[in-house]
Amino acid sequence: MDRTIADQVRALLAELPPGVELVAAAKTRTPAEIREAIGAGVRAVGENYVQEAAAAVAEVGRSVRWHFIGHLQTNKVKKAVELFDLIETVDSAELAREIDKRAAAADKVMPILVEINSGRERQKAGVLPEEAESLVREIALFKNIRVEGLMTMGPFEGNPEDARPYFRETKKTLEDLKALSIPGIELHRLSMGMTNSYRVAVEEGATMVRVGTLIFGPRS
Ligand SMILES: *Cc1c(COP(=O)(O)O)cnc(C)c1O
Repeated sequence: MDRTIADQVRALLAELPPGVELVAAAKTRTPAEIREAIGAGVRAVGENYVQEAAAAVAEVGRSVRWHFIGHLQTNKVKKAVELFDLIETVDSAELAREIDKRAAAADKVMPILVEINSGRERQKAGVLPEEAESLVREIALFKNIRVEGLMTMGPFEGNPEDARPYFRETKKTLEDLKALSIPGIELHRLSMGMTNSYRVAVEEGATMVRVGTLIFGPRS
């Protein structure tokens, strides 16, 4: 028998340890599907596209927190700052500067995560672990952005165990940054793990897992 979205959410929430938040990764899903997940206990929804998110937020409302987890283009920053409660994918000072500018105009302080390219794949988003410190120091100076932690994808495919070294390195990067006590920031979030890898991510210290397929079924 097929399990419903609500069944899947309840099972995941029961499985995740305290302190680990479930972010329902909702790209391509309908507002009705998102609402079913929320009805079963989801409190944060991840969206990859600003336009799609605007429609979802309009229909589903603000009883949940909305996270941006896609690649953010500069010309979408203004809208993203209005829509989202957390932008998880900041990986350049230019993008941060634009977020700061738009957040200042909206009289808001925008919480963000810095995305780490832990797999060191050339075509992937994120900064390399060794570049994180200089970017975080730079962003910490912006008044209308608050860095709250790190996010990583790691490699998508394959055995979940293959992701473990990348999650471990990202956790270490977070701990190294914390030890610097950079003024003005508090690094307490670590977003990593998806459907195939969330268990390994939790073992390696994730405080947020971004799960789509396991909740909603395969994307068509
Ligand atoms: C789609 C997506 C996820 C969820 O992936 P699943 O394999 O469907 O769980 C997590 N993070 C990001 C950034 C995504 O784009």
